[in-house]
Amino acid sequence: MNRILIVEDEETIADLEKDYLELSGFEVEVANDGEAGLKKALEKDYSLFILDLMLPGVDGFEICRKIRDQKNTPIIMVSAKKDDIDKIRGLGLGADDYMTKPFSPSELVARVKAHLARYDRLTGSAVSQNKVIEIRGLKIDTTARRVWINGEEKTFTTKEFDLLTFLAGHPNHVYTKEELFREIWDMESIGDIATVTVHIKKIREKVEMDTSNPQYIETIWGVGYRFKM
Ligand code: CA
Repeated sequence: MNRILIVEDEETIADLEKDYLELSGFEVEVANDGEAGLKKALEKDYSLFILDLMLPGVDGFEICRKIRDQKNTPIIMVSAKKDDIDKIRGLGLGADDYMTKPFSPSELVARVKAHLARYDRLTGSAVSQNKVIEIRGLKIDTTARRVWINGEEKTFTTKEFDLLTFLAGHPNHVYTKEELFREIWDMESIGDIATVTVHIKKIREKVEMDTSNPQYIETIWGVGYRFKM
């Protein structure tokens, strides 16, 4: 959830901005004077700031400068005067955008979304993390297709990796050899369920300390295999 702080002394404007942003799914807080706004901005984490320029107490210039000393969070500055906007640009306070009042609330929402998306790209928070399965000493990075046992990397063939990942991804679920063969080999290859047995044996040689007493992939006699959680 993206949380936005609006610092705006004109309550009708603040309410309008808040309503539109909330309708777009944002969480919004409002401060109606400069001091309260500055305090919130520095103490709490927000995804974006909307700062009015002329405020009682501490003005928008000062708040912008103080936020920039500490944070890279996007800042949109708003002012009733076009001249002020030119002035702030000239000061290079580090605001990301400027809007002249009156503006349409949908224009504000569009700009907020654009700045949040840009900031996510810059900070890498939009980059998805590799999906990792970790069960006791076994670690599988399913995105990078790498496997470690107690910190030591092991090499697996494609099918061994797919089979291990499938089982580890469904712990405590018992699968028959037929099910595993269909799941991993599909229709693409000739072979039979003995292929599954051979691959399980190969996987165990790599992951188990003692293959006669498997800690990860358990044989359920007469049924198939299960990955122990
Ligand atoms: Ca104002």
